[in-house]
Order: sequence, then structure tokens, then C-alpha cells
Amino acid sequence: MRLEQKQAIVTGGAGGIGRATAKALAAEGAAVAVVDLDGAAAEAVAAEIRDAGFTAIAIQADVSSEPDIERIVATTVAELGGVNVVFNNAGIIRRTTAVETSVEEWDRVFGVNVRSIFLMCKHVVPVMAAAGGGSIVNTGSGWGLKGGGQAISYCASKGAVVNMTRALAIDHGPQGIRVNSVNPGDVNTGMLRDEASQLGQDADAFLAEAADRPLRRMGEPREIASAVVWLASDESSYVTGSALVVDGGGIA
Ligand code: NAD
Repeated sequence: MRLEQKQAIVTGGAGGIGRATAKALAAEGAAVAVVDLDGAAAEAVAAEIRDAGFTAIAIQADVSSEPDIERIVATTVAELGGVNVVFNNAGIIRRTTAVETSVEEWDRVFGVNVRSIFLMCKHVVPVMAAAGGGSIVNTGSGWGLKGGGQAISYCASKGAVVNMTRALAIDHGPQGIRVNSVNPGDVNTGMLRDEASQLGQDADAFLAEAADRPLRRMGEPREIASAVVWLASDESSYVTGSALVVDGGGIA
């Protein structure tokens, strides 16, 4: 129970990594607000957590919208009693080069992947600071550190997440707020199948290629969740501004 007495917001909480992390945070004692664009799926995850004997609420929201972010923070404070942990994890990918990417698609990817984190921090940092601190974990990507092919807006957005994380850590460390990024390699979620379909590739062949790394397999959502639980808990109390890579050795 490393997160007893804590309240956590998890965005993209209905997706592969978000669901596994919401469940893992709850199992460590945190009360969890499961946030997703898909409200019914968020409610299903919250119900799963409650059925296991833990505390969770669901909030339907678009994390790129400032009014929605204000509502997420206000609802969590009102219903769970505060916010100590935020996992900014909602994200989308477009598998296109610069030439193929429209300005609208570029802006949407940045809205969901980057502006959301700025907005969440803008509204949650004062709440955390007033309570003496907290831990914010942002989902970057291996491609935010090393780049990748046919995903120009995604790679740029995840690079922004990694560096924004460092900037946030510098600004808010004195308030007792730690900010880190977790950077997955290929993880077995709906996003990978979506990528295969965007590229017109067979999903099984695409997933097999994703396993071509030193550990010879893709990551599972619970393996990202374990890293987030550690960053959220006091066990990582001297870690801030870091970019933790969880990718089965994909950088090699
Ligand atoms: P996923 O598609 O399973 O989950 C993403 C979730 O975010 C979905 O439930 C979706 O409804 C939600 N979402 C999308 N737009 C939203 C919005 N505007 N507001 C609120 N919720 C929104 O994908 P995942 O693999 O679990 O991805 C989670 C994070 O991990 C993303 O930031 C992704 O970029 C990152 N990531 C994933 C991989 C991978 O291989 N799966 C690798 C590196 C990084």
C-alpha cells in the first residue's frame, strides 16, 4: 500500500497503459479518477476497480480542452478530497510524414499530447502546492527521445513532453512537486493496432516487428504501470525531471 491516503488522476485511463496504471495505483491504496474521452469505457475501468474493493470515479473529458481540465481537477478534489498524483497519459498518434500531415492533424496531436499536460499542470499545481507537494508523471515515448519514421507530429509532440517535464520539474520542485516522464517502447495496446491500420499493414506482422528488441518481446501495459507506481510513490522521493525509459532495450 505505497499510495495509501493519496488521490490520483489518470488520463487516457480507459486505454491499455492507462487502465493498467489506474488499477495498479488503486491496488497500492490510491483513490483514482479515471479520465477518458470515452466516458463509458472510463466508467467500466472505475467499476472494475471498485469491484476489486478499491476507490475510483470516472470522468469523461477531452484533455485538450481547458474547461474540461478545470472540471477534472475540481471533480477530483470534490469527490476524492484532493490530488497528490497525476498521470498525464492520454495520447494519440498519426503515422504520417511532414508532407502527408495536415495542419489540423498536427494541431490535434499537439492538443492531446502536449497542450493537455500544460493545461493539467496549470490547474493542478496550485492544488498540489497548497497540500505540500505531489508527483506528476507524463507519458513520453521512446520516439520522443530518438525519433521514428512516418510519425512527425507524434515524435515532435513526445520530444516536447520530455523537455516540458524537465522544465516543470525545475519550476515546481521548490513547491515539493516532482515531475517525471515515463517513456515506453512498443507496448501491447490498441494504439499499436491503430498504427498498423493507419499504415495499411497486417496487425500480426506489425506486432511481430515490434518485438524485435533485446528482450525479444513487446512490453505489457502492467510493466509501464509498475514504473508509474514507483514514480508516483515516495520510493522515488529524490527523482525529478527524469526521463525513465521502459522499452525492453529498444534504444540499443
Ligand atoms: P490507447 O489507445 O490504448 O489509450 C489511449 C487512451 O487515451 C484511449 O483510451 C483514448 O480514448 C484516450 N484519449 C485519446 N484522446 C483523448 C483526449 N483528447 N482526451 C482524453 N482521453 C483521450 O494507447 P496506449 O498505448 O495505452 O497509450 C497511452 C500513452 O502511451 C499515449 O500517450 C501513447 O502515446 C503512449 N505510448 C504508447 C506506446 C505503445 O506502444 N502503446 C509507446 C510509447 C508511448
